[in-house]
Amino acid sequence: MTYHDVEPLNGVDRYAVVGNPIAHSKSPFIHEAFAQQTGQAMTYERVLAPVDGFDATVKALIKQGYKGLNVTVPFKFEAYKICDSLSARAQSSGAGAVNTLINTNGKVHGDNTDGAGLRRDIEQNLGFSIENKDILILGAGGAAHGVLNSLVGAKQITIANRNLDKALQLATSISNGSACPFESLERPYDLIINATSAGLTDSALPISDAIFSKNTLAYDMMYGRETPFMAQARRNGAQVADGLGMLVEQAAEAFYLWRGVHPDTQPVMDKIRAIAI
Ligand code: NDP
Repeated sequence: MTYHDVEPLNGVDRYAVVGNPIAHSKSPFIHEAFAQQTGQAMTYERVLAPVDGFDATVKALIKQGYKGLNVTVPFKFEAYKICDSLSARAQSSGAGAVNTLINTNGKVHGDNTDGAGLRRDIEQNLGFSIENKDILILGAGGAAHGVLNSLVGAKQITIANRNLDKALQLATSISNGSACPFESLERPYDLIINATSAGLTDSALPISDAIFSKNTLAYDMMYGRETPFMAQARRNGAQVADGLGMLVEQAAEAFYLWRGVHPDTQPVMDKIRAIAI
């Protein structure tokens, strides 16, 4: 039994991640590690919400006094709608998606820490500056929406998606954006972010080897396995990273919103990689 599986003690602040499915979530491990590292008295659990029962689940948790919640697939868009207030970045992201809820006396404030987590991982952990870079985003779902506005300073951002309409819609929300199908990509990019969920089914994307160079950072938001995208990037000499750093950094940002303390993320990333959870 782990820390987050036990019933919380009286007087200890309670937090949870809500999703469906949820059993695979690494968030309890990450927040447990942050809490131990920073001496915070809190618990963090996994909560499985029925696909048609997100609103009721959150209301029940808020009523029980949970101080904060993380929200994961498929509820980030619903979470946006149930908030009493939204952070500037959740509002301005245009994502319509929220991954962090803060309960203040029964009022729910929503934020989205995914973009900050991605940028911090790419710039601080991987040492790759976004400024003035030619960026390609593969995918136009919730994750692509959530991180787009964190890429300010990029020279241009191309968005490619299986459903081209979704890519076009997303590209028009930024001044330096354009959209195209996967099949028309034919030149190298500085940074390629795979924000599709194709890796979940080990599906290869219909993308040319020509989009990679030895100066490309190929970043897959997925973590926990080598995806066909990562393998293709590696074969073509690109630098490759998975999304574990983003996961831990977005969690650190949520932890800071809840507890006012910045945890040290590197030991937590190292621990997850070492024990391959
Ligand atoms: P969504 O379901 O909202 O979007 C999925 C996207 O993937 C769509 O653009 C979809 O295209 C595309 N896609 C799915 N399957 C294929 C395929 N076989 N070939 C081509 N395109 C495909 O998911 P999210 O945006 O929420 O998540 C995307 C990925 O990002 C997931 O793997 C998720 O785990 C990861 N993620 C990681 C985070 C982290 O912290 N590291 C945080 C958030 C997400 P179409 O529109 O045509 O259907």
